Amino acid sequence: MSEGDTIHRTATALRTALVGKPMRSFSAPRLVGPMPGHGRTIERVSSHGRHLEIIWDDGITMHTHMRMTGSWHLYRHDERWRKRTDQMRVAIEVEDWVAVCFNAPVVETYRQFDRHRHPGFGRFGPDLCQPTADLGECVDRVLRYPDPDVPISEVLLDQHVACGVGNVDRSEVLWALELSPFAAVGSLGVDDARATVETAARLLRANLSDSARVTVPGVSGGLAVYGRNGQRCGRCGDTVQVKRVGEMNRLLYWCPGCQARGDSRISPTPPLGMERPMDPHPAAALYLSDLPWNRRDDDHEPHADTA
Ligand SMILES: [Zn+2]
Repeated sequence: MSEGDTIHRTATALRTALVGKPMRSFSAPRLVGPMPGHGRTIERVSSHGRHLEIIWDDGITMHTHMRMTGSWHLYRHDERWRKRTDQMRVAIEVEDWVAVCFNAPVVETYRQFDRHRHPGFGRFGPDLCQPTADLGECVDRVLRYPDPDVPISEVLLDQHVACGVGNVDRSEVLWALELSPFAAVGSLGVDDARATVETAARLLRANLSDSARVTVPGVSGGLAVYGRNGQRCGRCGDTVQVKRVGEMNRLLYWCPGCQARGDSRISPTPPLGMERPMDPHPAAALYLSDLPWNRRDDDHEPHADTA
């Protein structure tokens, strides 16, 4: 199970225990940001890579980043905690449960509406729809993205990087760049990061006033790949694909023909002379399966767990 899957599973458990219930108590000794109000209800729990966010009905969002040390546990009120109290960073109590976050290096809260009142305040990235948006700041946030394994197609929707990029835009931006939506953000160089931000900004601003989105003038419908699954790519003639991805299960469209660049799912080519034979001897097969490019290292995340 990957790290993302573990956090995803934790988020599901927290959602079941917390969402819709008035909060009895909230404690976070090292919290940076405003406190959610007593009696407020948790509306949403979402995960993204090693990030976990809890959103209250008064608009406060708490962002916790697990890095390598953090974990969330769920306990009944009379249950003994499996870690020391001094490792507690957050404790949220509702009627039947206490959700406890231990050792997370990042625990911060912010109000969702602050970005409208105070642009530049809080944790949200610049709004790419604004002509004055600091694109350099967005490029920086792409390059310093906390989880290098997250695909660029998810990073584009992360408002901590930039605001304004929607689901249609991300597919179109990546097609325009001939970049795989599955390229890990950590694998992108400065040029790709800059091109991604600039293309997104250009596309968003060009479509601010139009009721119908046009990213490729002349193409029927105005879009290169979005909504065009099964149709031929206007650039290379390959068939446009669609897939549900990410926490929100949003549709992602791309052309595998001309958007293979950076695809981290394509295994690297073995060095010359190390090609895998058609039918190896069992000992050879064992040796080959242990080569770094053939090894599957999915299950190396013992840290985050849920009681
Ligand atoms: Zn194509």
